[in-house]
Amino acid sequence: MHNNLFFGIDVGNTKLAFGIARGDEREFLEKKVVPTEPHLGPEQAVNKILNQGRVMLAGKQSCLGGIGIAFGGFVDVNRAVALASPNFPGLKNIPLVEIVRELAPGVSVRMDNDANVAGVGESLYGKGKDHHHIIYLTISTGIGGAVLFGGKPLAGSQGLAAEFGHMIVKPRGPRCTCGSRGCLEAIASGTSIARMARNVAAKSDSLITKLAGRREAITAAHVFMAARRGDVVAQNIIDEVAYYLGIGLANIISGWDPDIVVLGGGVMNSSDLLLPPAISVVKEHLEVRDAKVPPIEASDIHDDVALWGAVALARGNIG
Ligand SMILES: [Zn+2]
Repeated sequence: MHNNLFFGIDVGNTKLAFGIARGDEREFLEKKVVPTEPHLGPEQAVNKILNQGRVMLAGKQSCLGGIGIAFGGFVDVNRAVALASPNFPGLKNIPLVEIVRELAPGVSVRMDNDANVAGVGESLYGKGKDHHHIIYLTISTGIGGAVLFGGKPLAGSQGLAAEFGHMIVKPRGPRCTCGSRGCLEAIASGTSIARMARNVAAKSDSLITKLAGRREAITAAHVFMAARRGDVVAQNIIDEVAYYLGIGLANIISGWDPDIVVLGGGVMNSSDLLLPPAISVVKEHLEVRDAKVPPIEASDIHDDVALWGAVALARGNIG
């Protein structure tokens, strides 16, 4: 049968993921993940995308119904150009849709930022699927977000809507990768949690450093691991992160009145430590005016959510 294969590409700062799915099936026929290696420059990442695409699509072009790209950064309003990614130095104004089009001439190629795309994946295949007004927040290297009404992500006038990572939660707070200060991303992203821990580790003999081996090797995962073993320094960092995440969530909920807030991304592997205190902060701020606090839940498909969203984009499930 013609045109019943769909190719999704998830361009993240850490990994490039590729998946082919048939029709409206919920399983990948073929999936591949390779490291992005942003320090080697954008050109090599683009080459990897093209090479991997050629390998996976070899002989399948005539059955291809569409290609969808989830890009981990800012995407222009026409969703054709990858503008920049704060965590991918040197990447600027890359016409990624045009570039990927050469994999299968004549086939439609669509792109959106990975948080919007992951939000769609979540609304179609995850915890958002029985809800209409959905807020999706992804917390990994950076923080991204999506606002979905009836499965459609809000784009905004420049395509930059729902950049919740750059919402100011701590005026004059730590410097963010975007150049501003006190953004949610500058406090609650995996990168920021690790940075906070490295700063504290210089002054204490916390278990975090022991788990990491050396101070420079500390990641957010070490902080959560140490907290699980009762380390007070790690717990203090998590309390601080949860507080500002809660402030951010309270602001988002006040602005959008969603049915549900779903959180994905690598940091949510420790949602059991981070979410309950953050939800307490949300309640503390919203329940004073009798506002109903919607369910705030960790995604259970977050490993592949952006890739599934990219497939949904390829299928034309997204307006
Ligand atoms: Zn920022």
